[in-house]
Formats: sequence, structure tokens, C-alpha cells
Amino acid sequence: MPHAQLDYGPADALLVVDMQNDFCEGGALAVAGGNALVPGINAEIAAARAGGALIVASRDWHPIDHVSFAHRGGPWPVHCVQDTPGAAFHPDLDLDADTLRVSKATAFDADAYSAFDATGLAGYLRERGVTRTVVCGLALDVCVRATVLDARRHGFETLLLESLSAAVAPDAVADCRAAFAEAGARVMP
Ligand SMILES: [Zn+2]
Repeated sequence: MPHAQLDYGPADALLVVDMQNDFCEGGALAVAGGNALVPGINAEIAAARAGGALIVASRDWHPIDHVSFAHRGGPWPVHCVQDTPGAAFHPDLDLDADTLRVSKATAFDADAYSAFDATGLAGYLRERGVTRTVVCGLALDVCVRATVLDARRHGFETLLLESLSAAVAPDAVADCRAAFAEAGARVMP
């Protein structure tokens, strides 16, 4: 059961993490339940937009032969290669011209799970007066987890919308919740 949308204001940023074709059903590194998140995330985007919040969409954006790919010794199959259909945002995701796109893990030799990792996002959000980040997207136990923990590390009040996220390994969710609680991030079921 999805939650009711939050009340957003100009000091909020909604971070939609890696809602890309390769992470949804049919993609190279699909997370079960990915496609089904889109309507709820769109409703959240609409609420954030209505409240004057910033909307940020991060994307994994790898060069061919990225270090995270299995044939380079990394843990993942080839996914989210720059300018391929798999790297595109989900076609039904309601991103407009004012949505901030953040590309991560764009270097050959480094991976990045967090939307804050080497992107400059934290400084930008502070500059815009953002004090609270609200996080959703894929995958709960990988890039969403890293993004939530980094948001706290950078001093933002942080809320995870768990019903608008899905995990690669559902067994890992309990551990994620514990890590979020320890970091001072709130989780909305
Ligand atoms: Zn990746």
C-alpha cells in the first residue's frame, strides 16, 4: 500500500535514484518490482513539484568497458552504458525540463553507488537552501542505500520512501533499515 504523498517545500529535494531501463524488468540488471514503482514515484514527483521542492534524478552512466563490468573483473553485468536505451530513464517517469539530472560513475576506473559520489550534488543542494532530502528509486540495497547514507553524512535531514524502492536482494532489506536508523535517516514504510 503506497503512502500518501508528503508535504514538500522549497527546502526539500526529492532524489529519484537510478530509475533507468536497465534496472527495471527487461533490463540488463533488472530489479524485481522496478517498473511497478513508476506510478507512485510520479505521484511523489507531482507533490514535490507542487510544493516547490527540487527534483533530482540520478542515473548510472558508464563508459563502455567500465570497471564495474564482469569482463573487467567487476561485480556486475554490462549495464547503463552511456547513450544506450538501457541507460535511459524509464520512459514513463515524469521528468520535466526543470528536473536536475545527475550522472554518476562516468569514469572508466571508478564505480559510484551514491548520487553524491563525485557529482558535486551536496554542495549544489546546500547552495539552493535544501535541508531535507527524500529518497526513492533503485536499488534499495545498493545505490539507494549509498545515497541515503551519504545524504546523512553531508548533514541533510533524510527520509527514505521504502514503498517507492525495491531491493536486488530482498534479504538485505533488514540490514539496510538498521544502517539507515544508525545513520539517523528516517524510513517511511
Ligand atoms: Zn553501475
